Amino acid sequence: QTTCNMLIRCSSTLHSKAAPAVMSQLQSEMPQSDHRPAAYDGPSYERILETRKNHLTPNLLAHFKKPLVIHAGHMQWLYDHEGRRYLDMFGGIVTVSVGHCHPKVNQALSEQMSRLWHTTNIYMHPKIHEYAERLTAKFPGKLKAVCFVNSGSEANDLAMLMARLHTGNQDILTFRNAYHGMSPYTMGLTAHSTWRYPLPGVNNGILHVMNPDPYQGIWGGSACRDSPVQTTRSCSCPPNECQAGVNYYNELEQTFKYSLPRGKVAAMFAESIQGVGGTVQFPKGYLKRAADLVHANGGLIVADEVQTGFGRTGDHFWGFEAHGYMPDIVTMAKGIGNGFPLAAVVTTPEIAASLGMALHFNTYGGNPMASAVGISVLDVIEEEQLQRNSLEVGTYFLNCLEELQQRYELIGDVRGKGLMIGVELVSDRETRAPLAAPHVLDIWEMCKDMGVLFGRGGLHGNRAQIDLKC
Ligand code: PMP
Repeated sequence: QTTCNMLIRCSSTLHSKAAPAVMSQLQSEMPQSDHRPAAYDGPSYERILETRKNHLTPNLLAHFKKPLVIHAGHMQWLYDHEGRRYLDMFGGIVTVSVGHCHPKVNQALSEQMSRLWHTTNIYMHPKIHEYAERLTAKFPGKLKAVCFVNSGSEANDLAMLMARLHTGNQDILTFRNAYHGMSPYTMGLTAHSTWRYPLPGVNNGILHVMNPDPYQGIWGGSACRDSPVQTTRSCSCPPNECQAGVNYYNELEQTFKYSLPRGKVAAMFAESIQGVGGTVQFPKGYLKRAADLVHANGGLIVADEVQTGFGRTGDHFWGFEAHGYMPDIVTMAKGIGNGFPLAAVVTTPEIAASLGMALHFNTYGGNPMASAVGISVLDVIEEEQLQRNSLEVGTYFLNCLEELQQRYELIGDVRGKGLMIGVELVSDRETRAPLAAPHVLDIWEMCKDMGVLFGRGGLHGNRAQIDLKC
């Protein structure tokens, strides 16, 4: 509640002379925290900047005009080297799912660390077995075989491989505006010009189909989304019907008719809500119909739950469940390990068996430390009812943001559900043209100065991303 009030008051003074005074007042109103992090005792700010410039890859993304040095975290708070506290509404890019340094996860990790760090899964260390059972219990139907890896890109790489081996087909579909990774294999799945290197072979049998985006796309209306907040576009659809979804589906059918070998598709990948693309939700019912079409053409459906999994969307544990379809493969990362490098692919035993055509191995995947963390993350989500928390707090927050939208032309769209929330900033409500980058950056910077960190997404970086679960 405090955050919503802060955002409302900040936005109402954004361009006024009173802004600095209001901002420092707001900063002092940040909710209290009893946690006191250890004082920063690392290298100076200037030294870190210099090392970053001279010894890290020059293309590293740095946020903010004066990039933050973050040295400590506790639950929803981050602390910089000068002792300032920030409300972390981005969670290490939608990754910190139960809180920074959550005591229960810390304890599980430290117990495991003093017992056994690593063996590979060539030995039957107990944790990976316990974890495999716990994780697969979260899935319906035949989704009962898990393969542990270390990152979302790796999980999607493996899903591509399995889909191609299992079906014997090559063609894979993803949506424009999708993000599925940056490895050479998954870069082809990712459909943003900003995230693609000009290399031969990146496309690798991958087709990007029209994004069924009810706000920026060519079709969209006032009831397309599974969200407490709808677009400002109008439509005459009766309840529970969505003409935009049908139109986008018809468009997808054209791709199958004209651009793909009939009945010979390997897979379609879909995020349940597009994350990096700026919290874009598809029209209700669309993905289910798309999944049926892919299946009818011999392909598998891969649900990329890297951002939407583990209860983040509030109403379900997995995002795909709200779309009403059953995926063949589910990939997950980020929230699975609360920041520990852990990721997984869950599929049916039959599809997983396709990897048996050759030797397949991953040194770290599901090692004792990763498995101990994964188990304790599941424990915390259950014990602290974080899925319900996502639903309740997220719905409240979305409603507050909608109130802001009614007051300010700048806010073109508010969307998402649970604690996966997006706000699209526009320069013109009618045309939905993106707000120019310098203005977006100003707002972003001011919120940071007030002590609130959130992310930016979308091709133009004008889509604010808020993902705060703990
Ligand atoms: N899929 C989705 C939906 C993602 O958001 C990301 C990362 N932003 C990935 C895959 C790739 O994950 P990683 O960075 O761990 O490789």
